[in-house]
Formats: sequence, structure tokens, C-alpha cells
Amino acid sequence: MLDLIYLDNNSTTRVDPIVLEKMIPFLSNAYGNPLSTQYALGRTANQALEEARNNIADILNCSPSEIIFTSGATESINMALRGIYENYQTKGNHIITAASEHKAVLSTLHYLEKKGAHVTYLPVDQNGNIDLDQLSNAITDKTILVCIMAANNETGVIHPIDMIGEVCRNKNTLFFCDATQWVGKKEIDLHNSSIDLLCFSSHKHHGPKGIGILYKRNKRRPIQIPSLIAGGLQEYNMRGGTHNIASIVGMQVALQLADGQKDKLHSIEEMRNYLEEQLTERIEHIIINGKQSLRINNTSNITFKYARGSEIILNSPKLAMSTGSACVTGTRDPSHVLKSMGLNDEDCYSTLRFSLSKWTTQQEVDSAVEILRRSVSKIREESPLWSMFKQGIID
Ligand code: PLP
Repeated sequence: MLDLIYLDNNSTTRVDPIVLEKMIPFLSNAYGNPLSTQYALGRTANQALEEARNNIADILNCSPSEIIFTSGATESINMALRGIYENYQTKGNHIITAASEHKAVLSTLHYLEKKGAHVTYLPVDQNGNIDLDQLSNAITDKTILVCIMAANNETGVIHPIDMIGEVCRNKNTLFFCDATQWVGKKEIDLHNSSIDLLCFSSHKHHGPKGIGILYKRNKRRPIQIPSLIAGGLQEYNMRGGTHNIASIVGMQVALQLADGQKDKLHSIEEMRNYLEEQLTERIEHIIINGKQSLRINNTSNITFKYARGSEIILNSPKLAMSTGSACVTGTRDPSHVLKSMGLNDEDCYSTLRFSLSKWTTQQEVDSAVEILRRSVSKIREESPLWSMFKQGIID
């Protein structure tokens, strides 16, 4: 484990030691329940809870009352999509999303389709982008929600969320944005955006797992949705269950650290670009997917022609990287994201995602490139398809 080169930060990240340090008191002496405010131990927890809410709201530029603490993006997505569908049925049953969304969104929408929702899946082009005119034309007077992610978890491709928000606002439709791969890497200003609902998980930017938020706009046209988890009065009656106060504090600190380390973002991008340059130089016939688009700074999605991603991983035990989203690991299906961009099945299977962090060093990237070069060349040597490709018999 010690020698592992970790290039799978879109799956999850290592908790920053500063975050951990701030969490520990709430797992030991300061163990109070934030709603038990009759005594000091509870009040200490309550103060930490509200401080975290205020500080997170400051960073996102929204009101503290617009933040609901959840167990992470998946729960927030379920709360938002199911909630909007349930409460806005008098307007209609139409929801618009993109074919390249995360499974948490697509599976929730498939569930809603069984309940009667009509869902439009906007196609993406070969660079992973949606067409804004197509989005605008797809919105009807029955459309209750547009659901588009900020940055794709597999390719890093960024959608123009401000422009999407404007289209939605002009057409009087709500906009939900899955910002799980965006928050902590890019700025977000909810007050000045047209995003109505937004979610993320803390563990994607060096915070703890199992904690995240749903932002739900309360100002101007307040959004009403039912709670997903019935129980106590926590989170404005929106999410029952005793607060995970240590993780909430950890989420706040992780976000503050990310906010204060914006200079690191540029160096992560330089390292990502360096990885891509080195791989392009040293391994023939690779394709960087989404490279023509704006991408999140840490992500690289690469097809190694005729070298299966799963085999590269087997041959490279020192590297942690992924064949796609961690949520669908174990399925044999090719990535729906890459398929939506027009890749054939063989190329989908020959693709790996690399996602860097603020701790990825040039030495690690150099070693990773050399390991990948050896693995890919070994796999290709044994591949009849590769030799047919080299002879020009297949593409
Ligand atoms: N949305 C996106 C874009 C993601 O990348 C992920 C996790 O990979 C999720 C949603 C789900 O996050 P979580 O598993 O923390 O609920």
C-alpha cells in the first residue's frame, strides 16, 4: 500500500490531516448531540453545526438556511429529483437531463420514469458537450426540472452551468446541478447564479466520506420539496436523523482549505497536462477523450487503443486508477459516458480515468507513465487485434 501511486481522486480522496484534526474532538470529548441544547455539551455541538453551516454558506455565497446536510451527493440527488417530481406534478411530469450524467441521477430518473415521469436524455457530442439550443427547444410548459452536472466524473468535461441556468430561468424551469466534481476545485457563487438546487459530497475534495449537502434556493421563488427521510426535526424538518457532527465539521474545514488553496488548482492542472504530454510522447495510439472541451483541472480520460483498461490495471498493481465510475465497478457494461460521446465498445473497454490531487507529484507521474508504457506494450504484444490494427486490417 505504501508505494501506491493514487490517481483515482474522482472516486475519493485522502482526508486532509488538518480536516481530521478538527474532526477528532467531535468523535471524542465533544460528543454532544447538537439538538440537546439543554446542557453545555449539546450546545458546543450545536454551535459547531451552525458555524459549519454559516461558513459553508459563505463559501458558496448562499444563505445558511438554504443548506441541508445529507449523507452525500447520492442522497441529495434522490431528495431533489424525487422531491421535485412529487411536489411539482400540477405543473407537469417532464424532466430533462443529459445522457452522460452520473448513475446516481440516471438511476433516480429511471425510478421516476416507472412512477410516470417523462424524461428527455439530451445527447452529448464527441467532446461531451450538450447543445444549448437543443436544451432550450426541449423545454415545454410541462418541464418541471432540468438536471445537468457541472463537471463529468469520468472525462472532467465542464458544462456551462451559468448559461444552462439562464436558459432555465428564461423558460421558467427549475435547474438542479450535480456539482460533486466541481465544488472544491472551482468557484461557485450561488447567489449570482441561476442554479435552484445543487449537491456535492465532501470526500471528493479531502473531506470525510458519507457527508454532503443539498442546496435548495429559498430566496426569490422558494422551492418546496418533501423530506426524503422522515424522523426528527433536524435540517428544518427536511432530513431526520442525529447530525453527523464530526463529518459536518470536517466538510466545512475541507471546503475552507480548498477555498484557501486556489493556487494549487493551477499546479494540479499543470501536472495533469504533463501526464497527458508524457503519455502521448511515450505510448503510441492513445486518445484523450474530451480534450477539445473545457475540463476540470485534475481529470484525464484516455483510450489506449487495443489495450483493455482492466488488463492494464491488472498489470499495474502499483497504480490506483479506474476504468470508469467507482459506482459501476463490477459491471461489464461499457461506460455510458464514453458511449454517449460516440466511442465504440472496444475503445470504451480500452479506456482509463486518471484523476490527480494536490498531493500528486511529478515523480509519481513519471513512474506512472513508465508503468503504463510497459503494461500497454505487454498487452498489445499479446493482442491479435493490435496486430490487425497495425496492419491496417481494422480501425
Ligand atoms: N455525482 C457525481 C458527479 C459523482 O462523481 C459522484 C461520485 O462519484 C456522485 C454523484 C455520488 O457521490 P456519493 O457516492 O458521495 O454519494
